[in-house]
Amino acid sequence: MLEKNIRFLKGVGEQRAKLFEKRGIKTVRDVLYYFPRSHEDRSKIKYINDCVVGETVCICATVFSAVRDSRIRSNFSIQTLNVSDDSGGMQMVWYNNKYIKNTFKSGDMYVFFGKIVMSGNKKQMLNPIFEKYGAEKYTGKIIPIYPLTEGLTQKIVQSTIAEALKGVNELTEYIPNYIRTKYQIARVDYAMKNIHFPDGMESYSNAKRRFVFEELLIYSLALSSKKKAKTESVFSIDISYADEFLKILPFDMTKAQTRVVSDICTDFTSGFSMNRLVQGDVGSGKTAVAAAAVYAAVKSGYQACMMAPTEILARQHYATFCEYFDDMGIKTVLLTSSMKAAEKRAAYAEIASGDADIVIGTHAVIQKNVEFARLCLVIADEQHRFGVGQRSALMAKGENPHMLVLSATPIPRTLALILYGDLDVSVIDELPPGRKSVKTYAVGESMRNRAYGFLKKQLDEGLQGYVVCPLVEETEKSDLKNAVDLSEKIQKQFPMYNVGLVHGRMKSAEKDEIMSRFEKGEIHILVSTTVIEVGVNVPNSNIMIVENAERFGLSQLHQLRGRVGRGSDQAYCVLIAHGSGEIVQKRMKTMCESNDGFYISEQDLKLRGPGDFFGTRQHGLPEMRIANLFEDTDVLKLAQQAAEEILADKEQNYDLLKERIKSVFTDEIIMN
Ligand code: ADP
Ligand code: MG
Repeated sequence: MLEKNIRFLKGVGEQRAKLFEKRGIKTVRDVLYYFPRSHEDRSKIKYINDCVVGETVCICATVFSAVRDSRIRSNFSIQTLNVSDDSGGMQMVWYNNKYIKNTFKSGDMYVFFGKIVMSGNKKQMLNPIFEKYGAEKYTGKIIPIYPLTEGLTQKIVQSTIAEALKGVNELTEYIPNYIRTKYQIARVDYAMKNIHFPDGMESYSNAKRRFVFEELLIYSLALSSKKKAKTESVFSIDISYADEFLKILPFDMTKAQTRVVSDICTDFTSGFSMNRLVQGDVGSGKTAVAAAAVYAAVKSGYQACMMAPTEILARQHYATFCEYFDDMGIKTVLLTSSMKAAEKRAAYAEIASGDADIVIGTHAVIQKNVEFARLCLVIADEQHRFGVGQRSALMAKGENPHMLVLSATPIPRTLALILYGDLDVSVIDELPPGRKSVKTYAVGESMRNRAYGFLKKQLDEGLQGYVVCPLVEETEKSDLKNAVDLSEKIQKQFPMYNVGLVHGRMKSAEKDEIMSRFEKGEIHILVSTTVIEVGVNVPNSNIMIVENAERFGLSQLHQLRGRVGRGSDQAYCVLIAHGSGEIVQKRMKTMCESNDGFYISEQDLKLRGPGDFFGTRQHGLPEMRIANLFEDTDVLKLAQQAAEEILADKEQNYDLLKERIKSVFTDEIIMN
């Protein structure tokens, strides 16, 4: 029954099925894997006299009178009911509950669950849940509490889960027995029952541990298939050119940059292909480091290729590299998908003949038609923007080329372990001198006018600014501000200034045109979606307003904020956040307090959980349902160890596990 549609379950009709589907729940199996967010302990039944004020408990008591209904005001009434057990009596209280009147039968016993309060010298239970004694379903045990979607109540979800659990014996055990024994992992059927309706809190933690392990094991297996043994390198690079490059650079590298360049040089001379991740905060100068590596490779007679996630960024790198290398007889070629066919063909020819020393582009560089003459070094900039498979496609353009991955989203160690288990890591943990941190303010909607007033003040001083709003790509119904409307509104509000708009759905020629007018100062306010997240560099723009800031991940906000503070003026970032939830508040506070990308990304992971850390879609990684990379580091280590054992074992077949991985990871990542 597990693969059946949830409508098969008792109590689920068309309408409820739709509500569940909003949560991605289609089959009975999906229901089972919809884990509770917490539990409520209704297992202890207390005597009335032992109940303490303030606690939430179950009592088991007999009803002796009818419900008393007192009307206080026209739309406010109170219902009370006196009950007692062997130890004493108590009053049940409901508000505005006119249906309660006829539910109790005098002389019958019920289980009540609720919070104990005192009213005068009378012990009361407020708004209790109750069930007939002997037919308890939701009292007298530990009850799961689920995340809800509008239209679904706890009771509906609980009873649907309870129905689905009837099929629990059909669940397949994916984790091999020897692994379960070694790491003391509970069986799937036991764990499934107890993650929802546990016998006790210990059973629950065993159940939870199992699913955390399962999830992390699947992650580790899926991703560690990328892990390769070190391959020998056929290239011989003269690393003295890296030193030479430092003299060409118009500035001195920071200590951190120099250290990373020397890590790269060590890799170049190790006899094996480099597989290195360079993590560095926005503005830490990763490009210069990459350029040093490129210079050494090219001067040693090879080609290098750098892939950027957006057209804007590719063009910016292209400009930088041309500036560094043009007058040295080193040829840099640009390749993006928006180029005219003839231009592309010309680029292909130069790349294939070897005339092109450096190729810079978007994912256009991994298309079939691109063939290199002597590719030795590939660089993926802002790696987290690429699907996991694209990195491999880039590698495949050469013969085990050296690989450098640049990431501007500092990834917490735990996540890096999973995502980049196959890479050596260097960190640029220092910014070039003289950088001022961006003053950041989080405000509510009511302060919007003041925020825009502040923007105007900056413009009046000859500076420029960004206004960022979440996407326009999706057509789906949403309350997000449409970037187009917003830019028109702002233009009306600031008739004396020019407002430009860039978003992901524009043709790149249009985008480039707007960007270059912004760079020249002809456009004063640039309204944008997150396309400006990476790479844009306009030092005269010192203020950024982010609309609907609560919709962004913290790391993303940090990236965005990195667009300002590039000039000599004090830079500002105003986050306009809607909603006063605790998490929103905490997240905004983190942004205001810190300019440290590492700290911010750790907080991000903590506050929103791993699922949507980068935006799942960008990453090609499925959402984590239960594992928390902060709390579950111990289990993570075990799961990784188990994954290694499984991968090393060529004797047994792991077909069930492979099936499971395939169903979770729809991407091209498959365990070998
Ligand atoms: P990111 O790490 O975000 O990619 P970039 O490589 O784009 O950073 O560098 C940001 C800016 O800082 C560029 O304008 C670059 O020329 C400059 N820069 C990089 N390293 C240094 C340095 N050591 N000293 C001064 N400026 C530097
Ligand atoms: Mg960069």
